[in-house]
Amino acid sequence: MFGEIEGTGFEVLDPEFESCFIGHVRVERLWTGARWSEGPVWFAAGRYLLWSDIPNNRILRFDETDGSVSVFREPSSNTNGHTIDREGRLVSCEHLGRRVTRTEHDGSITIIADNFEGKRLNSPNDVVVKSDGSIWFTDPSYGILMDYEGARAESEIGACHVYCVSPDGQIRIAADSYVKPNGLAFSPDESLLYIADTGITHDPDGPKHIRCHKVSSDGTLDDGPVFATCTEGLFDGFRVDRDGRIWSSAADGVHCLNADGKLIGKVHIPEMVANVCFGGPKLNRLFICGTTSLYSVFLNVNGISPV
Ligand code: MG
Repeated sequence: MFGEIEGTGFEVLDPEFESCFIGHVRVERLWTGARWSEGPVWFAAGRYLLWSDIPNNRILRFDETDGSVSVFREPSSNTNGHTIDREGRLVSCEHLGRRVTRTEHDGSITIIADNFEGKRLNSPNDVVVKSDGSIWFTDPSYGILMDYEGARAESEIGACHVYCVSPDGQIRIAADSYVKPNGLAFSPDESLLYIADTGITHDPDGPKHIRCHKVSSDGTLDDGPVFATCTEGLFDGFRVDRDGRIWSSAADGVHCLNADGKLIGKVHIPEMVANVCFGGPKLNRLFICGTTSLYSVFLNVNGISPV
């Protein structure tokens, strides 16, 4: 069974994809009204999803119990990517604040990183927390290139790196060979770190791929060869499922790559997709941020708890 499954949004490019979805399940559009949807994160205990509407300077909240959507925080400092740490706290990348922050259990906000060696970060884009508590984030320049989703400014660092903040608060460069580092995610056993490079946004010959780094026991990364190149648009944010597949944003929807980097299937979405995350009590519901709208689809695979 190859090709598009009529009316579902699923497209099978390799038989391996057939086990990943249920044939009669449909993509659902849950809500619309955003300008640029990004950064979905699932809170299992509260049964809600948060995501960013970056240009509208707000964080939105989808309540799984009744399907309602409300404003969680406004202004949001133009947050982009979010994740949840091992204590269940929201960790956010802020374009306007040019920093990564954590929302504590009492609602106060703690700065995790806002500079490297005294120079302000560009505009943190996406973030993940490793099981040891270290916080890894990308710092491309999208939020300082224009006023639309942040504030125009010169880069103080003059480059776009990937950073790691250790549990004791020390920040270091984890990778310095990226043009525009963007989405990132660990493999299920955290032995691999996948990082997208969206350099093609400002250079037609620039990268539009995901690289795969081996993570050594001391937390350093290897050179990270190219893992997969996007065939439609670019890979922005993505998540890894329990079996090691990558579910990535792309121009025509969500691309599913197997652990070898092969594109095995797609979930077509009628808008450009920027990011995804697994949610629901069983982490078998993929939430999809597609430009103006929030979509979801139930899959026959499960995400990795808690991220
Ligand atoms: Mg991104």
